[in-house]
Amino acid sequence: MGKTILILGGGTAGVAAANVLADVLPPGNDLVVVDRSPVHLFLAALPLLLVGRRRPGQLTRELTRLEERGLRFIQTEVEGLDLQGKRVLIQTGELTYDYLIIALGAKRQAQIPGQEQWSFNPYDLGEVQELRGRLARFPGGRLVLFIPSLPFTGAVAPYEIMLLVHDYFRRLGRRRQVELILVTPEERPFSFAPPEVSTQTEELLRAAGIELLTGQTVTAITKGGELILERGALAADLILGLPTHSLPPCLRATGLVGPNGWLTAHPHTLETPVRGVYAAGDVLGLFTPTGQPLPKVGFFAHYQAEVVGRNLALQLTGQKPNLRFRGGAAGASMLTGLRRGVFVSLSTYANPPEMTVSRPTCLAFLVKTLFEKYWLTAWF
Ligand SMILES: Cc1cc2nc3c(=O)[nH]c(=O)nc-3n(C[C@H](O)[C@H](O)[C@H](O)COP(=O)(O)OP(=O)(O)OC[C@H]3O[C@@H](n4cnc5c(N)ncnc54)[C@H](O)[C@@H]3O)c2cc1C
Repeated sequence: MGKTILILGGGTAGVAAANVLADVLPPGNDLVVVDRSPVHLFLAALPLLLVGRRRPGQLTRELTRLEERGLRFIQTEVEGLDLQGKRVLIQTGELTYDYLIIALGAKRQAQIPGQEQWSFNPYDLGEVQELRGRLARFPGGRLVLFIPSLPFTGAVAPYEIMLLVHDYFRRLGRRRQVELILVTPEERPFSFAPPEVSTQTEELLRAAGIELLTGQTVTAITKGGELILERGALAADLILGLPTHSLPPCLRATGLVGPNGWLTAHPHTLETPVRGVYAAGDVLGLFTPTGQPLPKVGFFAHYQAEVVGRNLALQLTGQKPNLRFRGGAAGASMLTGLRRGVFVSLSTYANPPEMTVSRPTCLAFLVKTLFEKYWLTAWF
């Protein structure tokens, strides 16, 4: 008898899992993707939208397009899970399943007093469009980007945004009129990585004239454009604030929440403690062998979804599910300018975890932009 596989979330992990399963799943099974949004958003291209190198429509795809692959898409809010009864509670009732893939990402919300009113969220499509206009008209002054708390998604994103903004103003001949400051609670950039990587990142920022304030927590934003820090205050003319990241509320009572407030799962198979229930992407709270949380990045969301999808297909065809998530990524990149980037490779399950960052090259820029095109055409 055919099985029902329910994928919660049509973001990076959900879309990758859906495509993998649609390709390999034997006929007669029912594959369903659920998301509150009608569109998939390629988040990693938001920094390029911010500096005017993308149009909003270039970053999104209708999730109904997945139906051409023989699956069903349901646009609705997931409100809760009943794992014992194999039911997902949705706005309009419930959905039942035989296998469940949880790929709901992280809830991203401005939480610092004054943040929503007096700063822009560079992780939100609508706000990035508004911010793009503000940047174009920025007469000069101090622009501050702050990271409110850990963890945050897209480990490279805040650094990439500042490096792109630097190059944007440089090309306009207005860089001297703009002061750039990045405020982070981390003691060093990429705190999960070896210290050499942090030093290398600090040098990249220094070379671009971006000031980095580490170990600083922002407690409030004032109407007058001041960031109140735990130690002191910082006046700014334009403020960008990352949202605070947390587990989607509908997952809090599932019994699957691990010690760091995110979902727990087997580090290699990504099966949760409940049989037949898997998790992939930002929703997961996995750890390195040295006890550091794994960074929340799209590369991992993608690989994890492939592992879960392929293993499930093997299982359903009577074969041994033998794929493993290995905590690594190679060929990822961080843009360091409007034509340059660095290659980043990660091996988070190594003991100690490894990470390397190459020198800036045009090739790294090209690879990242080609990957974006691949993602938005191959999967849809
Ligand atoms: C600005 C930015 C730049 C980034 N750059 C990079 C990069 O360069 N490289 C990299 O590897 N990673 C990058 N990332 C990180 C990467 O985008 C994420 O790690 C990845 O998207 C996580 O995938 P996911 O499927 O777990 O979650 P998401 O992609 O966030 O998808 C979650 C989906 O679940 C849906 N959803 C959530 N709750 C509910 C609910 N209750 N009911 C119904 N639907 C729900 C959402 O609508 C969403 O579609 C970046 C992120 C940002 C924000």
